[in-house]
Amino acid sequence: MKKSSAKGGLKFDTKWSYAPAPETPDHIQLKEKYDLFINGKFTAPSSKKYFDTINPATEKKIASVADANAADVDKAVTAARTAQQKVWSKISAAERGKYIYRIARVMQEKARELAIIESIDGGKPIRESRDIDVPLAAAHFFYYAGWADKLEYAFPGKKPAPLGVAGQIIPWNFPLLMAAWKIAPALAAGNTVVLKPAETTPLTALKLAEILQEADLPPGVVNIITGAGATGAAIVNHPGIDKIAFTGSTDVGKIIQKALAGTDKKYTLELGGKAANIIFEDAAIDQAVEGIVNGIFFNQGHVCCAGSRLFVQEGIAKEVIRKLKDRIQTLIVGDPLDKNTDIGAINSKAQLNKIKSLVQIGIKEGGECWQSDCDVPSKGFWFRPTLFTNVAQSSTIVQEEIFGPVLAIQTFRTVEEVIEKANNTPYGLSGGVWTDKGSKVFKVSSKLRAGVIWANTYNKFDPTSPFGGYKESGVGREGGLHGLSPYLKMY
Ligand code: ADP
Repeated sequence: MKKSSAKGGLKFDTKWSYAPAPETPDHIQLKEKYDLFINGKFTAPSSKKYFDTINPATEKKIASVADANAADVDKAVTAARTAQQKVWSKISAAERGKYIYRIARVMQEKARELAIIESIDGGKPIRESRDIDVPLAAAHFFYYAGWADKLEYAFPGKKPAPLGVAGQIIPWNFPLLMAAWKIAPALAAGNTVVLKPAETTPLTALKLAEILQEADLPPGVVNIITGAGATGAAIVNHPGIDKIAFTGSTDVGKIIQKALAGTDKKYTLELGGKAANIIFEDAAIDQAVEGIVNGIFFNQGHVCCAGSRLFVQEGIAKEVIRKLKDRIQTLIVGDPLDKNTDIGAINSKAQLNKIKSLVQIGIKEGGECWQSDCDVPSKGFWFRPTLFTNVAQSSTIVQEEIFGPVLAIQTFRTVEEVIEKANNTPYGLSGGVWTDKGSKVFKVSSKLRAGVIWANTYNKFDPTSPFGGYKESGVGREGGLHGLSPYLKMY
């Protein structure tokens, strides 16, 4: 850690540095090569092609992974269809629930291994994969297991029935958690699944395939196939798919929506965001600063609901910005496996280049850029936490999703002004309000056009609570009963 910082103002003494506390990856079991998980078995791809998945903190290869083509997608969909018709829809709902519980339990037993693999494949700090991703993934299986035999109570007066085969395509920011968000409700509702993880983070989904084998899930109920965008497109366009659940970029979401227009496939899309975090003068400022830091620098800003726009009421702007800089100077950027690390590696070189180019645009457009001067490792993909002031509503970095640890700060005077500014975005996924007044929380949150608004906290998740966006942030909800109904036909 730095002795002093001309930029940040806060002085550090080396005696306050933390000693390294790395989690050891020695005991984890990873294969050198992964095939496709189809019909309960790992199967070589028809394409005969494999690609590498690398550790973004070291740039070293971890494993090679099969690249599924359209023929492989067809095999997976056929396996899922057969399993849905012959097994999954035939066993009792209570039995289905037992399998889902069992998956959750095995996941908990392997929690440490899953957390380490998540961190080495995706770059996120072990503290997050250990305390957030993995426990929350297991919690989603536990939660939806409970609904499997109670669907008629969940939707009173209706006769809920499964849709059939769900195609699920997920991104690289919360790989295991996104798999759980999608697989657990689909299975509880009686559907079978073909899931594709992102090409840069396939490993925890493949470990999940091993967990499904250990849980004795009947073959074909969940099929996990790997590949890039072309594999995803083959899932979307396969005629045997009844529903697409997608989480990823707004650009790909639009491609998928166009591909599905005119078909009878159902879909839910969870897309980008540009969330506003709003601090009023009456807020508990230190608590708000902590929440803002958590909201944008958490997981390297690789969060669709990241609070990437900050609106500070004018009278406290100086104080908030000073406190933010001081806090940011203490953040440790580095080894994702070290338990002290706050900000891990950027997920891929492509993502790092995207962040760098947007920051350059921000500077060119006249934004004032401030960065922590923390050390970063020489190998791997890293980006120091960054603040922008002197930006306008029209600035590119205020309008576009960056998906990196970059916060754009603006000021406001009145409640009406900040509501208008916060809503001036094509997105509407989430937001945050920091104030001492409950009435202000209700006034602001009811006028923000976003799916989730946190009050005096940020980035809190629970399997019982729905999540999803307005406008270009998507269609449909995940989590809770809202996340179960898109997997059901209601009679
Ligand atoms: P990001 O920009 O966050 O990487 P993407 O939207 O590109 O997000 O990727 C999210 C997921 O969508 C990944 O699993 C990726 O392979 C997949 N994907 C990319 N392009 C397509 C496409 N045209 N059709 C379906 N899936 C796609």
